[in-house]
Amino acid sequence: MEKMKIVHFKKDCISCGACAAIAPEYWEMDAEGLSTLKGSKKVDDHFELEIDTEEARAANQEAADVCPVNIIHLKKKDEK
Ligand code: SF4
Repeated sequence: MEKMKIVHFKKDCISCGACAAIAPEYWEMDAEGLSTLKGSKKVDDHFELEIDTEEARAANQEAADVCPVNIIHLKKKDEK
């Protein structure tokens, strides 16, 4: 599978918990009640995690689809 990355604008999270409920292997709520993409690194004003399996893509596409404020995105690895 083509390498992809998950992009998360954590600062805009409204703490609904939907991503952590639907894809708990990738998402959890932190002590401040904001969602965290497990293993991600901070890049500028957002967080990123590279993925390379269909399972990871599918699980995180579900998280992106369920986020009510649309702050989770899947992109090609080198896409800005
Ligand atoms: S679904 Fe979106 S708004 Fe809800 S906790 Fe996850 S990132 Fe935050």
